[in-house]
Amino acid sequence: MSQTIALAPAPVDDPAPDLLHRRDGALRMEGVPLTRIAEAVGTPFYAYSAQALRAGYTALSGAVAPHGVDVCFAVKANSNIHVLSEFARLGCGMDIVSGGEMARALAAGVPAERIIFSGVGKTEAEIRAALLAGLHQINVESPAELEVVAAVARDLGQSAPVALRVNPDVDALTHAKITTARKDSKFGIAIGEIPALYAAAAMRPELNMVGLAVHIGSQILDLAPFRRAWAAMAGLVRDLRAAGQQVGRLDLGGGLGVGGDGHSGPDLAEYARIIADTVGGMGLALNVEPGRWLCARAGVMVARVIYTKPGDGADFAIVDAAMNDLMRPALYDARHAVEPLAPPRQVGATTPCRLVGPICESSDDFGTYQGLGPLQAGDLLAFRDAGAYGAAMSSTYNSRDLIPEVLVDGAQFRVIRRRVGIDEALQLEQPGPWQRAG
Ligand SMILES: *Cc1c(COP(=O)(O)O)cnc(C)c1O
Repeated sequence: MSQTIALAPAPVDDPAPDLLHRRDGALRMEGVPLTRIAEAVGTPFYAYSAQALRAGYTALSGAVAPHGVDVCFAVKANSNIHVLSEFARLGCGMDIVSGGEMARALAAGVPAERIIFSGVGKTEAEIRAALLAGLHQINVESPAELEVVAAVARDLGQSAPVALRVNPDVDALTHAKITTARKDSKFGIAIGEIPALYAAAAMRPELNMVGLAVHIGSQILDLAPFRRAWAAMAGLVRDLRAAGQQVGRLDLGGGLGVGGDGHSGPDLAEYARIIADTVGGMGLALNVEPGRWLCARAGVMVARVIYTKPGDGADFAIVDAAMNDLMRPALYDARHAVEPLAPPRQVGATTPCRLVGPICESSDDFGTYQGLGPLQAGDLLAFRDAGAYGAAMSSTYNSRDLIPEVLVDGAQFRVIRRRVGIDEALQLEQPGPWQRAG
């Protein structure tokens, strides 16, 4: 049978353009028809292409490694340990933001000395665990946190490897809810306060001041803000060094955006060139910590249409996935391209479809789509670019299941997180003893 619809053209830097393709009309991930996974695990589910995960890491590290830049995966984008282990096997480091993520990275086989601990609110217990594990670096985001790191390190008889996270006051030109380095942001320490804090910290034996870190936001498509932020960091490193401080490392953050919806995606060579232009040749050990770029395009979420009903301007298709499974549209207006697993019934102009979930919130709405054809109950749809901030952000809101995650590798697939249903959830809830009577 001939192809009835073309998939959207692959972005310039798509690490694995073939990860989703059609054969005889049926949408496949690598060698596996997605309908086969739907039959095996039920819907909705997430599926990740192992080949795309590996190709993404290889492409990104291939672009930046010649400039001496190390790649750490931001675990929060997709924290399944069997996804992490795909990266770990290739030598990728990890950027974590909690003790839970540290446990995951270690369980995935990442050596402690390849792990950086970021985050604005690390607890004393998390800091202690990090120092005991021997992590590579703790990125400290406030003078108050620095005091806790110092106290714990003193207690353990250690000298804690610390970088200060700088707020360079740069607008990342992305969605406001994923912008992290404007002056009013909760993240980091204002750039003007760094020299005094760094100098004071460097005097303390329990602190080993290794350098600086910056992270300006997420889903950044225009690379100019990176240039501004990293140029500011280079200036700060020069100032600190001129004042006699040793600054050995610079963590450049994550945030590299993923194309789609008409944007071809940032150019990796350009990204690498900006690093070289701004902070190259300074004798700094450099790293980046992308999450989304490394895994978004490797994943899809597959959902089934439960009902259709006429709507105003667009027909509704109520699907069995919802904002608890894929929160990005509700959280920050993200839009995921959608492919039907079977070719659409009708080619050409049809009524647009508004894809919504079953949850009792109006924000449980994936958006309005053209070209899906008239949908019917039972139809299967793949939400593309769902490998980052999808399953990792999911919840059981409305007492829904945590949906399965499946890893595809060539012709094989495997459930790497099984469905967690209501029976297990109910076991977590115990009555107060006084509630038992009656
Ligand atoms: C979230 C985060 C990242 C990863 O962001 P992406 O947009 O997924 O690349 C990197 N570093 C820090 C400190 C973060 O908070």
